[in-house]
Amino acid sequence: MDNTNRRVKRGWMNLRVVDVIEETHDTKTFVMVDADEGGRPWDYWAGQYLTFRFDDVADKPIVRSYTMSSSPNQGETCAFTVKRVEKGLISNWLCDNVKVGSILRARGPIGRFIYEAGKDLSHLVMVAAGSGVTPFVSIMREYAKKIGEPNSPKKMTLLVSYRSRKDLILEEDLKALSQTHGCQVFITLSRDNEAPPEFWQGRISAEMISKSISGNYKDCTFMSCGPTAIMDLTGKVARDGGVPETQIKTESFES
Ligand SMILES: Cc1cc2nc3c(=O)[nH]c(=O)nc-3n(C[C@H](O)[C@H](O)[C@H](O)COP(=O)(O)OP(=O)(O)OC[C@H]3O[C@@H](n4cnc5c(N)ncnc54)[C@H](O)[C@@H]3O)c2cc1C
Repeated sequence: MDNTNRRVKRGWMNLRVVDVIEETHDTKTFVMVDADEGGRPWDYWAGQYLTFRFDDVADKPIVRSYTMSSSPNQGETCAFTVKRVEKGLISNWLCDNVKVGSILRARGPIGRFIYEAGKDLSHLVMVAAGSGVTPFVSIMREYAKKIGEPNSPKKMTLLVSYRSRKDLILEEDLKALSQTHGCQVFITLSRDNEAPPEFWQGRISAEMISKSISGNYKDCTFMSCGPTAIMDLTGKVARDGGVPETQIKTESFES
């Protein structure tokens, strides 16, 4: 992780929302630029997150983190994708109130849940559920066009689970990525028995993870993001397949 020449902004930034994309019935993507300087006068690594501060939602400031679902190569905007959590304060507030022109306060980027060139192995295996897909869409967007080049993975596999087809977040992006050389995307649906055969069926299992990489654990770095059960399962499957502990990374969305 080379931080030389990276553009940084210290402290809380004001970010202006320039687009709101309705992804599904309960998920929206917010596209932003820096409200003070325009564009994006700071750099990030795909997989990093921003910490947002909300001063007017409750009687005290509330802080929440959101991973950027955009990738650094997407020009002067950045985006994050929020799924409503049942009775959740901020996820619902964002989806109900934030419009084009809204200003959000955030600091960052933060986090090491990224592809680390020179440290990570050549096959990046990503396992996610629901909104846990956001760091992986960012990572895949970033590396899909440079696959096999120096400082990039040679292969990327994403296995992601959703309840049903109506919960598919960032579906068009995943479709496009799955058609890119060196990238595979497997989507499994836990409650949608009538889905067409391109979808796998059921919750993520050990067999499914192994099938997604054709049982070949050599040169794999595993990353997982989602409920604890999925991160634990992915870690166990990787360990049982002989993947060293240093090549198993997790990110929890629960604070
Ligand atoms: C590093 C990091 C990155 C994140 N990136 C994203 C992202 O890209 N997109 C996204 O949608 N969320 C992301 N999150 C989760 C996000 O920060 C909030 O926790 C989430 O939006 C819920 O906040 P809330 O205020 O709506 O819920 P709260 O009011 O805090 O919680 C309401 C209830 O929901 C439960 N709950 C809280 N969070 C979750 C959750 N994630 N899943 C299920 N139940 C939960 C709580 O235990 C509580 O019972 C990330 C979290 C972290 C730590």
